[in-house]
Amino acid sequence: MKNLPEINHCSPNRKAYWCSACKAHNTFDIKSSRSGNNTTWTYHCKACRFSMFNPADVYPWKNGLFVFVGLCFLIAVPIGLICLVIGDTDSNFFSISLILAGFGAFFGWIAWMMHKYMKQWNVWHSAQRRKSPERLTLEAMNHPFQPEYDSSGDFTEWAEQFLTPEEVEQLHAKYGKRLFIPANQ
Ligand SMILES: [Zn+2]
Repeated sequence: MKNLPEINHCSPNRKAYWCSACKAHNTFDIKSSRSGNNTTWTYHCKACRFSMFNPADVYPWKNGLFVFVGLCFLIAVPIGLICLVIGDTDSNFFSISLILAGFGAFFGWIAWMMHKYMKQWNVWHSAQRRKSPERLTLEAMNHPFQPEYDSSGDFTEWAEQFLTPEEVEQLHAKYGKRLFIPANQ
């Protein structure tokens, strides 16, 4: 690897953020957004700015959402059909069935998107796992994007996905100094 031999961004790690566009664990910029009392963080690939995801985090959410969507339709469809059959479309039951179907459709779309990206991850993950460490190293060296060291908190969080805090400290000690060498030396 050109920049960081300590971390191979082409070696699959379920607990590390992954870019489905670049097919790699690229370095990222973390952005926070607030809505009410909640703050959400999104991870943007430094190479293509695409939103990255953590497969280990997404997997249980995806499954939970599919169960929730299934339950929504399981309740909404029979109630809605009964109301239609008896011609009672003004009742609260029919409104509830429509609201549940709406929830199901909305969360179903999110679950489907998660499924789509998880499928891409699974395909890449199983292909990478079949490769030898030497081949993965070669692939990382030839990848169009190379992770570069910087002293930011975002870089530290990225590195800590693969290394222990002590190893990340060593990384800062090794590369951090180089950034501060005055230009006239
Ligand atoms: Zn990317």
